[in-house]
Amino acid sequence: MEKEEIKEKKPVDQKRQIKRVMILSGLIIGATALMFVGSYLRTVQRMQEIYTNRAFQDAVELRRVHVEETVSNLITEIDQMRELRLRDETSLVKGLAPAVEAKLAGAGANAAQIKSYFAGDPSLSSLTSIIYEESSGKILADERGIAGETAVWSDDLEQAFMIMERVKGDKLTVVYGITNSSFDKEITSILTERMEAYSGEESTLYWIDRVTTLDNGKVSTVRVFDPDHPNRVGMNVNDAGAGAGPWRFASEGILETGSVDHTDDAEWETESGGKVTAQTYTCAKYYEPYHWAVCGAFRIDAIGLKTVQSQEASRKETIRVGVQMALFFAVVLAVAILLILRNSARYFNIRQSRLKDQVERDALTSANTRAYGIQILTDAFKRFENDRDDSPALMVLDVDKFKNINDTYGHDAGDEALKHIVRTAMRMRRGRDCIIRWGGDEFIAVFYKLERARCETIANKLRKLVADNHIFYEGQEFQVTISVGVTFFKFGDKDYNDALKRADEALYASKEQGRNRICIAE
Ligand code: GH3
Ligand code: MG
Repeated sequence: MEKEEIKEKKPVDQKRQIKRVMILSGLIIGATALMFVGSYLRTVQRMQEIYTNRAFQDAVELRRVHVEETVSNLITEIDQMRELRLRDETSLVKGLAPAVEAKLAGAGANAAQIKSYFAGDPSLSSLTSIIYEESSGKILADERGIAGETAVWSDDLEQAFMIMERVKGDKLTVVYGITNSSFDKEITSILTERMEAYSGEESTLYWIDRVTTLDNGKVSTVRVFDPDHPNRVGMNVNDAGAGAGPWRFASEGILETGSVDHTDDAEWETESGGKVTAQTYTCAKYYEPYHWAVCGAFRIDAIGLKTVQSQEASRKETIRVGVQMALFFAVVLAVAILLILRNSARYFNIRQSRLKDQVERDALTSANTRAYGIQILTDAFKRFENDRDDSPALMVLDVDKFKNINDTYGHDAGDEALKHIVRTAMRMRRGRDCIIRWGGDEFIAVFYKLERARCETIANKLRKLVADNHIFYEGQEFQVTISVGVTFFKFGDKDYNDALKRADEALYASKEQGRNRICIAE
């Protein structure tokens, strides 16, 4: 038996390896999650910009169309209202003619009677009447001073009345009807209500100017309606200084085209009373019967402000969702990596135990390998020497005339014989006892806690069991015997090799004495 060198084995530090992989994985997860959030936010921000720009443009366009349509609707409403009133008032004026005629035909009809007739009926309160002497043309009653002194047929009269009726009696003539100004007043009061309904729109104004060409060829623009700025009604907005806001509509051009619109900077009053210049869309349409420019305007930046607010809100939401997704992503990634690590650890352990088996177990017999046996013997000797443990019994077994077995029954049958010996020895093991295949047909059985007094019995029992049991291999039946040399560690031994040497000598003695026997070294 040769001496063996014992090499120190470095254990694989699996925990440290896993820790390193975990740290690396954590860094990868963190970096990936950050990259993911970064690219997500960039993409969404870009999309939002595109969307917001488009939404802003759409909102401005919608508001523009809305203001333009409101102006058109106002004109339609004014026109319809005017038509309606004109019809009603005309039928009132015309329908009254027979009654006025009857009054004039009555005996002793005088101006005072006719006057009280018009004044006494509330349903006639909207009418204006003028009474004059038919023969002289002398004005007897003209409360509103429309006719002048004798201007019975004057243009003033024709211009003053919108609907006019002239009823002649024998002496007196009555001119009555609806004057332009009272008709307009009526329209104005209805229109004011309608305009007020529109004036509630945010950052939007509606107003009406009267646009006329003066004798000198200049255009006069006078504010007629302005629900948001009643103080401007009556103001000539062509005047310098009056036109700093969208309420001053540049009326030039509307007389020719009938409709104008433009976008430019205009001054607006803020809620706090200050002034602000803002990009403004203004549109106006001309209503010919009244020479009215019906106008509407809105602040474009007010829509922009709204868009910015909603953009800010959606930006916050995007970040929230991004962080949530990143966390989710990191958790999924972490779980995936943990699973991979766990599987790798399992695979690592299986591989370790396979490697351990390869190192520790003999492939043919499943006895411990010589390499592992050296470790077992070294440890056992250390415990004996340092810890004063009892020495285990060391039995060196060698198959008798094994060459013959191989030659007679074949090498495979020889293998079976070796397995048979190990199986038999294994059956006798207790606790940490082990069987080492030292080489070829030679084994070392290490039996712990086996007193010297009993070791002969046990060794013989083993020898006998091996010898008595038949081996069956491919139809062949045969038996093998072993010779055994037994020893224990002794104080003074340098290492386990000294003990093995003694066991070898005892084995040799067994062989010498005829084999299939045991010898115990002194
Ligand atoms: P002795 O009684 O003196 O021990 O005689 P022996 O024939 O057994 O002589 P020795 O122990 O020197 O011979 C061992 C033989 O064991 C040599 C070799 O052919 C055979 N052998 C070694 N390993 C194996 C193995 O794994 N399987 C088989 N079948 N034979 C083996
Ligand atoms: Mg042999």
